Amino acid sequence: DLKEIYTRSDHYHNSFLLDPNDEALLNAEKTREEEGLMPIAVSPAMGKFLNLIVKSISAKRVLEIGTLAGYSTICLARGLPKDGTGKLISLELEEKNAEISRKNIDKAGLSSIAQVIVGPAIESLKTLKPDPPFDLTFIDADKESNLEYFIEAKRLLKKGGVIIVDNVVRNGQVSDPSTYTDSRSEGVRRLLKFLKDDKEVECTTIQTVGEKNHDGFLYAYII
Ligand code: SAM
Repeated sequence: DLKEIYTRSDHYHNSFLLDPNDEALLNAEKTREEEGLMPIAVSPAMGKFLNLIVKSISAKRVLEIGTLAGYSTICLARGLPKDGTGKLISLELEEKNAEISRKNIDKAGLSSIAQVIVGPAIESLKTLKPDPPFDLTFIDADKESNLEYFIEAKRLLKKGGVIIVDNVVRNGQVSDPSTYTDSRSEGVRRLLKFLKDDKEVECTTIQTVGEKNHDGFLYAYII
């Protein structure tokens, strides 16, 4: 079936391009599974892509919404400069997840760069006053709140900054609103409707297939 082909292709390409013995990332996945958290972290290929974006735009300040066990946090934080100017803040609702991710971040040697703040992200976002503002935000939490997160992320981002929103395609379900009326798909549609009239951003959705099946991310550039 298609998922098998997507997964085989991910594994084939990863075998040339990624480190199969990446202890920090293997550990993040292992602890996630052991602690009974859902397998909803980004894939290794997507994680590397996030890492490369951080480097490509020379980001120094990164905001993440939705930490889970810290897999994507590690990928993003690794792209930051290690001279003290690189900082990442990740927002997570669950105390348990925050604790697991902090340990994983520590094991990855990134605890001086990446900080996890516990609580409803919308509350935490209201308390953030980054100076200088963030260069990049990765939104990957409860999909129902995508629009609220996007608006807050924009407020906290520099002009020329980037916002990436994960899981905006959802096996094609987002584009079939008469069949799929679930709140997550609705959360993505609310964001898309907002973006249609937002003159302060330029955006595109890139569909992806891979071991996490058919999905996609939205890439927004703040004008
Ligand atoms: N970004 C992670 C990765 O790729 O490794 C995966 C994040 S997972 C898809 C979504 C996370 O968002 C979960 O850990 C969940 O507890 C968290 N979350 C859900 N609702 C939230 C909220 N209101 N505020 C902050 N975090 C929330």
